[in-house]
Amino acid sequence: MIAEDLAGFFLFAILLTVAVLVSVTETTIASSNAKEHHPTDIRAFKNCPNCTDQLPLSTLVCDACEYNFLSGSTGSRYKLLPPPDAGRLSA
Ligand SMILES: [Zn+2]
Repeated sequence: MIAEDLAGFFLFAILLTVAVLVSVTETTIASSNAKEHHPTDIRAFKNCPNCTDQLPLSTLVCDACEYNFLSGSTGSRYKLLPPPDAGRLSA
């Protein structure tokens, strides 16, 4: 008798937990969809310091003038980083 009551209680507790998790997940999905449809005012562009062209924030090399944001120089499109210090390599 007690064992049946306990089993029923645990079954009820498990179902309640699942129901709460499903509702929380649906709320999270709904809110994340709402964010996609109504983007907040985030500045997603930056200006090239060389030619003042407006570029996406993720741009590493300017398409207009080939300014490299990592090395801070132009014309080195495929050299993303400045060459390493020669003294540091030999040490
Ligand atoms: Zn540029």
